Amino acid sequence: MAMSTPLTADTIRQAPKVLLHDHLDGGLRPATVLELADAGGYRDLPHDDAAALGAWFRESADSGSLVRYLEGFAHTCGVMQTEDALVRVAAECVEDLAADGVVYAEVRYAPELFTEGGLGLDPIVEAVQAGFREGERRAAAAGRTIRVGTLLCAMRQNARSLEIAELAVRYRDSGVVGFDIAGPEAGFPPTRNLDAFEYLRQQNAHFTIHAGEAFGLPSIWEAIQHCGAERLGHGVRIVDDIKIDADGRAHLGRLASYVRDRRIPLEMCPTSNIQTGAATAIENHPIGLLARLRFRVTVNTDNRLMSGCTVSSEMAALVDAFGYGWPDLQWFTVNAMKSAFIDFEDRLEIINTVIKPGYAALIG
Ligand SMILES: [Zn+2]
Repeated sequence: MAMSTPLTADTIRQAPKVLLHDHLDGGLRPATVLELADAGGYRDLPHDDAAALGAWFRESADSGSLVRYLEGFAHTCGVMQTEDALVRVAAECVEDLAADGVVYAEVRYAPELFTEGGLGLDPIVEAVQAGFREGERRAAAAGRTIRVGTLLCAMRQNARSLEIAELAVRYRDSGVVGFDIAGPEAGFPPTRNLDAFEYLRQQNAHFTIHAGEAFGLPSIWEAIQHCGAERLGHGVRIVDDIKIDADGRAHLGRLASYVRDRRIPLEMCPTSNIQTGAATAIENHPIGLLARLRFRVTVNTDNRLMSGCTVSSEMAALVDAFGYGWPDLQWFTVNAMKSAFIDFEDRLEIINTVIKPGYAALIG
């Protein structure tokens, strides 16, 4: 019998992976931030050396201060205000994901954050789409096949969600596969954007909602039962509806049962959750319990620059914390592919022709 390949950071990188929750403005290369700042006359960066700047982004995310965390996004968005910058950032994002062994990704961003230099929403979407296609071509030239779909986000604190939902539908045949709302949860419940969600449902369009990260069960309940979210961005706080008794048996409340019964995908981002305080450490991150209870759990990066992570490093951390093996990593990956917003036949093809053979070779 063939030996199973040992699980290391390197072999996990070789395994096919699927990423559903990754922010374009949270995944720039530090050197690119510097070069774009130079080209665009952006003068507010805290460092002019790529290594120091990269460390600054991670420290800001680790600082426990939301103000410092958000300052990082002010800088990345600050250098993404031209079409050239958007094309470059999107292309490099795909190259970096492909180099990490990601075979399918949905990358999200809020177009309304890139209008400060005078760009309109449609040119912004077209520039990012052009960058993603360029990145796919470069990855193919390097021998890696990756497909990237786009999610357009509306910011919860602004009042443009219907406009952004319409934008997502307008570009649905050009690779925009869905919609999301991002930004502060507290004080901005998902129901504030009900008109956008109703429009999307009438258009048979797909959407996920950031819910249950900073805020608890009411946010998750609203996202699913009022807004009709197909997936939950994070959703970690669903554990508040699960009680563990003295014998270690789990008792699910009605909302947790609903989420599990309906197979509602949870876009979990362990490192990011620790940085924002939604979880205290990887060893006790709710993903362990939720995976054991067979929720539709997926593993994601959220912000690769700020969290200094990749899908492979997140999986490696979970392997260390919970003792997962290749079958578990395959399960997370198939969960994610099943939950993607592209056509059923395309999802099935990637599962059967890329993911299953890839893990079969590693399992041996
Ligand atoms: Zn997010």
